[in-house]
Amino acid sequence: MGRAGMTYRAGTAPIHLLVGLAVRPAASHRRLGRVEIGGSAVVDLRGLDELIAALGSAGYRTLGPVVRNDTIVHGSLTGVDALPSGFHDHQSPGHYDLVHCDDGELFGWAVGPASFKSELFPPHQIVWKASTAPDGFSVEEPSEEARPVAMVGARPCELAGLEVLDRVLGTRGADPVYSRRREAAFVAVVECGAPAADCFCTSMGTGPEASGAFDLALTELYDPPDRLDPDNPMPAAGHRFLVNVGSELGSELLDKISHHAAGEQDLARRQAILATARKRVGRFLDTEGLAGILERNIESRRFEEVAERCLACGNCTMVCPTCFCSDIRDASDLDGGARRERTWSSCFDLEHSYLHGGAIRRSVSSRYRQWLTHKLSTWWEQFGTSGCVGCGRCITWCPVGIDLTAEAAAIRASDGASHGRTPQAFVRGAALATSTIGAQATSSGNDPDTPPISEVPR
Ligand code: SF4
Ligand code: SF4
Repeated sequence: MGRAGMTYRAGTAPIHLLVGLAVRPAASHRRLGRVEIGGSAVVDLRGLDELIAALGSAGYRTLGPVVRNDTIVHGSLTGVDALPSGFHDHQSPGHYDLVHCDDGELFGWAVGPASFKSELFPPHQIVWKASTAPDGFSVEEPSEEARPVAMVGARPCELAGLEVLDRVLGTRGADPVYSRRREAAFVAVVECGAPAADCFCTSMGTGPEASGAFDLALTELYDPPDRLDPDNPMPAAGHRFLVNVGSELGSELLDKISHHAAGEQDLARRQAILATARKRVGRFLDTEGLAGILERNIESRRFEEVAERCLACGNCTMVCPTCFCSDIRDASDLDGGARRERTWSSCFDLEHSYLHGGAIRRSVSSRYRQWLTHKLSTWWEQFGTSGCVGCGRCITWCPVGIDLTAEAAAIRASDGASHGRTPQAFVRGAALATSTIGAQATSSGNDPDTPPISEVPR
């Protein structure tokens, strides 16, 4: 995935926020000189706890992985005790199971349904409020949360997702709220040691190692209890994290907490963990020439076949870390007040393609096509990158288990077929589209009267 042209660097929180860091270095750890950008060190569980405390002391609203409703989502993080110790997930198309074991691994899971996108691009946002006054009315913008967010435990694909959003929402002042929050955010990535069966980060170049603009990148070096010597349950190496420094701010924070020098053993362990993780990545997407293949197969029958299963529920778009569609609505109160609200929307909503007179993507097949081809093809034209980072959420959280990698592979396999469409059918579809504009769309499902997907020439 291309990374050129990134607009925001993580870790650009105002430096004054760091004043007051009150972390006592542990006496048992030898203090290093300051670890510079690109350098690495090792922290143990106490050091990780100190990092979380230091972020709070520095003024951050610290978020990290927590267990809620049998899933791993992000929530308020006050210390290591709040992390999902011993939790592991099993994911497959349409399925997510969280299991608990007696091991103490803290990050032995892949991404859950929630991404950090929601902290920077909130699902629901008041844009402005208006109220009546004796001499007219006044308009006010809601005040922003003062504390910047610290994202602890974001996975590498999650960071890649934010970098995709940077190009969409963070350029040319497209979304000032997103830009402000993103610029002030602190990102402590934890590299993936336990990818899920629905992950395909290796296809997209987004994981399992962290390669984006992080402040700190941690790798959990964990020796499961059954591999420890019973006579020496906590070997010298122990449960620890290799920490790579990615920014000045990360370097400053690391300097405030207990850490020691990384040895050859630590670096080799990280490489071994990542090598195993790469083998555990469960899915593959062949991206070679994919954007062009999708573009020239826009009339593929596959879109109608997938629409026979697709519920148009929009789950795939809600869990996706890069989907950015939103809806603006104005509402009024009985007391004379009014407000403008922005909420997440989905290209699977019938109303989302509403233009003057009606919706132009009336069939489910046309909406699935819009989503898939935007993610993997036209996103490149718009933003110079793929719209997909291979996190696999849309596969796991699709209630009927539709798998974007399988759909893309099927279209690739049929590349060159005529799809049974003739140029005349295409022209006829265009005429149909013209004649149906003005008709009120009445269904969000597969309507037998819905014109074929060729109704809107592309
Ligand atoms: S399209 Fe699916 S796999 Fe790709 S980033 Fe979105 S949710 Fe993840
Ligand atoms: S692909 Fe799956 S998650 Fe997405 S709209 Fe269709 S049924 Fe819902």
